[in-house]
Amino acid sequence: MTNIQKVVLITGASSGIGKATAEKLLEEGYIVYGSARKTEELESIKGIRALKLDMTDYASLEKAVEKVIHEQNRIDVLFNNAGYGQYGSVEETPIEDAKYQFDVNLFGLARLTQLVLPHMRKQKSGTIINTSSMGGKIYTPLGAWYHATKHALEGWSDCLRLEVKSFGIDVVIIEPGGIQTSWGSIAIKKMMSISGSGPYKKLMKASAERMKSTYEGQGSLSPPSVIADVVSKAVASPRPKTRYVAGKYAKQLMFIRKYLGDRIFDRVITPK
Ligand code: NAP
Repeated sequence: MTNIQKVVLITGASSGIGKATAEKLLEEGYIVYGSARKTEELESIKGIRALKLDMTDYASLEKAVEKVIHEQNRIDVLFNNAGYGQYGSVEETPIEDAKYQFDVNLFGLARLTQLVLPHMRKQKSGTIINTSSMGGKIYTPLGAWYHATKHALEGWSDCLRLEVKSFGIDVVIIEPGGIQTSWGSIAIKKMMSISGSGPYKKLMKASAERMKSTYEGQGSLSPPSVIADVVSKAVASPRPKTRYVAGKYAKQLMFIRKYLGDRIFDRVITPK
């Protein structure tokens, strides 16, 4: 099968990494279905086939997969990318919010994968690409629930890779570093609303300031095209890597955590 004919389904295509990847893959000639809750944002991407989808609404996931199969009779690539950061202290975050974080970042992704797998097994081919994060290997202050979802996604994806290998399906994990998208401002807003006035406000203030200066300052992070390039490479490869690390700070922070240990990493990652 040539690249031109490959059918790709991207979640979280209305913004940031998903949008940049949709644009790149469209440019490269793939048939791209992009999904999000805000479909008006999708409509601005020329050539995209827009799907309205909420990761927590399983009926919308079923409808999306049915539509792609009805129109194309196959799905070659599932790029599981939609997600956000539920920042705020563990003590103050309502368990309902923590569950919602898992519903979007892990269970919705898992349900969508379950819906796509029978088609990929039938085709005897397919690539599932999961957007984890450097945060699937490291951790940041007040990010417990976010990191819990991404650390979980890492192990879940590794197990999935073993399960589906014999059906000709690849599973790829993307570990972005700091990428200039709306992810940062959403995480800061959550952090401020949950931990802005209670016992964690000092840590919250320092963390929010650091995040603001990186995510909201122009040019200090990598553009989303850095991840789009990596996804494009994985999609085109006959034998993609199991993991791709790309984007600002990712390699350095993962190195410090892995080789210098938790105490040194704690010092590096805690804002003064
Ligand atoms: P972004 O610009 O905020 O994009 C997030 C996307 O997810 C949007 O298209 C959003 O669309 C979609 N989304 C959020 N909640 C959803 C829901 N309930 N149902 C359906 N779609 C939903 O952020 P981004 O940086 O591109 O994030 C993409 C992925 O990269 C996330 O998984 C994030 O955790 C990961 N990541 C980001 C960074 C970074 O520094 N930016 C670093 C590491 C990992 P709608 O709001 O329209 O639904």
